[in-house]
Amino acid sequence: MKIVLFGPPGAGKGTQAEHISKMYGLPHISTGAVLRKNIEEKTPIGLVALEYIERGKLAPDDVMMQVLESELEKCENGFLLDGFPRTLAQAEALDKITSVDVVLNIEIDSEEVVDRILNRMVCPKCGKNYNKKIHSVEICDICGSALTVRKDDNEEVVRERLHVYENQTKPVTEHYRLQNKLAHIDGRGSIEDVFERIRKALYDYDKK
Ligand code: AMP
Repeated sequence: MKIVLFGPPGAGKGTQAEHISKMYGLPHISTGAVLRKNIEEKTPIGLVALEYIERGKLAPDDVMMQVLESELEKCENGFLLDGFPRTLAQAEALDKITSVDVVLNIEIDSEEVVDRILNRMVCPKCGKNYNKKIHSVEICDICGSALTVRKDDNEEVVRERLHVYENQTKPVTEHYRLQNKLAHIDGRGSIEDVFERIRKALYDYDKK
């Protein structure tokens, strides 16, 4: 199955991706995580991306296509895309490479997003997300690394990321609605509640 996880920053895409990936045996491609790895390794892509990420802006489409294509090369039987596409140009470019089956659009209001992001801790090694209000841990329970706060998870940058989402990313839902691939997921409630809604949407998709 080829799945796109869509939604604003802080909607829970990364957390849900972890569960979906496990249950359906799909490789999880987080373009944000790939960029962060490139930044850490100081690659040419990382140097370009840093400028944009720190300001809450989107990295250029041509850079993102390079990132995506090299990730897709590793996927033989489906994938779970998290954070891609974020512009109409990216969605159209993706259509030329492959046809996605379903786009799970996780919906949540912006004040909840800000609250979640400002309470987010992340494992710099495996990328697992934690919420300070739910988890009182400082060490990742998967790989044992010390948790950190993402540089772009501060209020000013979060507000900019939300603005970018509304203007550049949200309109992409129309592209997939017209292809009859869009599934709406209510992103409120616990991780388990949201995952249950996703399972149901994927089950309904499978029956089509
Ligand atoms: P994320 O981890 O998905 O929240 O992404 C973090 C940041 O990486 C975003 O705010 C963008 O600056 C950049 N980024 C990730 N994916 C994309 C994409 N598909 N297009 C443009 N920029 C991206």
